[in-house]
Amino acid sequence: MSKKIQAIRGMKDLLPKDSTLWLQVEQTIGTLFSAYGYKNIRTPMIEKTSTFCRAIGEVTDIVGKEMYSWQDTNAESISLRPEGTAGCVRAMIEHNLPREGLQKVFYLGAMFRRERPQKGRYRQFHQAGVEVFGSNNAKSDAELIMMSHSLWNELGLKNLHLEINTLGSEAARANYKGILVDYFNQHKNQLDKDSLERLAANPLRILDSKNAKLQNLINTAPKLIDYIDKESVEHFDEFKTYLKYLNIPYQINPRLVRGLDYYNRTVFEWTTPDLGTQETICAGGRYDGLVEKMGGKPTPAAGFAIGLERLILLLGAQNITLINKPPLSIYLAVLGDEAQLKSMQIFTKLRRALPGVILYNDINLGSFKSQFKKANKVGADFALILGTEELNNKQVSIKPLKRQGEQQSMTLDKAIDYFKSIL
Ligand code: ATP
Ligand code: MG
Repeated sequence: MSKKIQAIRGMKDLLPKDSTLWLQVEQTIGTLFSAYGYKNIRTPMIEKTSTFCRAIGEVTDIVGKEMYSWQDTNAESISLRPEGTAGCVRAMIEHNLPREGLQKVFYLGAMFRRERPQKGRYRQFHQAGVEVFGSNNAKSDAELIMMSHSLWNELGLKNLHLEINTLGSEAARANYKGILVDYFNQHKNQLDKDSLERLAANPLRILDSKNAKLQNLINTAPKLIDYIDKESVEHFDEFKTYLKYLNIPYQINPRLVRGLDYYNRTVFEWTTPDLGTQETICAGGRYDGLVEKMGGKPTPAAGFAIGLERLILLLGAQNITLINKPPLSIYLAVLGDEAQLKSMQIFTKLRRALPGVILYNDINLGSFKSQFKKANKVGADFALILGTEELNNKQVSIKPLKRQGEQQSMTLDKAIDYFKSIL
C-alpha cells in the first residue's frame, strides 16, 4: 500500500476558506507601508548560504541549526531564506541602490527555518518586513515604530506591547561581552549545553535563552545598558523622546538582544500575552554595520519583520473579522450551444461594467436546475440567465437567489443598470 500523501512537517497549506483574510491582511500592509513612502522589493527565495552566514552570523540559532541548506549541482552551498534582511542588503549592494539616496523598502513572503513546529512556529512561515537604508538617526527608528503601531490600529489589534533596548556600538558591546563572560564563567555550573556553547561563541545570546531554569541567573547578570557608549545613549534618549511625542507607551527590556548578530543601537519587539508562548509578533532594530560588513559602502540601516501567521492568529484570538460585507455575486447560468458562446461576451461586458462584483462563469454545462444548485452553493446573490428564449429576444433574465422577487427579463444594459443600482 502506498503511503498517504502529505505535506512536509511544519509546512502548512493555506486553504481557500482562510485565504481571503490573508489577502486582506497583505493588502492592508502593502497599502499602509506604501503610504509611508516604502516601496516593495522582491528578492529570491534562495541565496548563497554564505550570504546568510555573513549577514545573520555563524553562531546564531538560524544559521547554526535552522537553515535549509544543500549543495547545488555546481557544489555551491545554497539555502532557503530564513529571513528577509540578508537578501535585501545583498540586493542593495549588488544594485548600488544606497548611492541613489535614502532607500525605503518593504517585502512580504515565505521564510524557512527548521524549528520544532508548534502553534505560531512553523518551518515555512511568512513575514512582512521593512528596511530603511541611509538614515542613522533616531527619528528613522521612531518611524518604524510609528508604522508598525499604525498597522495594529488599522487592523484593530489590541494588547500589543512595545519593548525596546539599545545594544550600543560594536566597541561598547565587545567590552560588555567581556564583563558578561566573566559573570557567566563564575556561574558556569548553572549553564545548560546551549548556553555553554554561546558562552564561547556569542555570550550576549545567553540573555536570549528561553530555558526557564536560567532566568534567575540571566536577570541578575550585568546589564548592557550600563556599559554602552555615550553616542548610543544619546541616540536611545532621542528615540525615547520621539516615542513620547508619538504617544506610544514602551518598556525598556535590558535583556532584549535579538537572536540575530547584526543589530546595534536600537532593538525592539512588539509582544502580546494573547498567543501563549509565541508572544513576539514583530521584531526589529538598527544594523548600521551590516551593509559594509557584506561588502557595500558604509550605510546605516534599520528595519523590522512581522510574523504573519502570528498576526493572523492574534486577529482570531481577539475575535477581529476584517471582512465586512461580502461583495455582490452573480452566477451566469447558461443553456444551449449558441448561448454558451454568447455568454463569454456577456461575461466580459459584465466584468468591465461591474468591478468588484464576483461573477461565476458556469463551466460544468449542466441543466438550469443543476446550475441554480451550484449558484446557491457558492452563495451567489443572483443568477443571470441566458437560455434560448433570452437569446432569441436579445435579453437576459435576472433571478434573485437570496432575496424576494420574481425572475425578470430585460436587455443586458438594463440588467447592468439594475446591478449598479443595488451595489
Ligand atoms: P522567536 O524568538 O519567536 O524564535 P525570532 O527572534 O527567531 O523569534 P525573528 O527572526 O526576529 O524571530 O523574526 C521576526 C518575526 O517572525 C518573529 O517575531 C515572529 O513573529 C516571526 N517568526 C520567526 N520565526 C517564526 C517561525 N518559525 N514561525 C512563525 N513565525 C516566526
Ligand atoms: Mg527563532
